[in-house]
Amino acid sequence: MAEKSDTDWQAQLTPEQFHVLREHGTERPGTSPLNVEKRDGVFACAGCGRPLFSSDTKYESGSGWPSFWRPLEGAVETTTDRSHGMTRVEVHCAGCGGHLGHVFPDGPRPTGMRYCMNGIAMKFEPGSET
Ligand SMILES: [Zn+2]
Repeated sequence: MAEKSDTDWQAQLTPEQFHVLREHGTERPGTSPLNVEKRDGVFACAGCGRPLFSSDTKYESGSGWPSFWRPLEGAVETTTDRSHGMTRVEVHCAGCGGHLGHVFPDGPRPTGMRYCMNGIAMKFEPGSET
């Protein structure tokens, strides 16, 4: 895939999406309509459209961000993030490299992981098969 420049991304994304996906921003908790999204479907990357999470793995973590216990196979990659004086595991899209959120080891079974995502970095596609 061809690398997109910041200018390309700015033309495609809203300023808020650009801030999260391309500048490792974080949306304010509780602001994403995807927090209360309960329908069956797929959560896809807002940058490249790659399917990232199934509604089957979404749960209410109480964090104010859409949370999942497992991504779709091969959908995301992780890196260690040492910004803000913390060591966290950053989650980004395997398709376009866009920043999605972080993963923490305090999720529910069966994985025990909490994928804490920025809703603005994703698009919900109701009814899609995974
Ligand atoms: Zn992507």
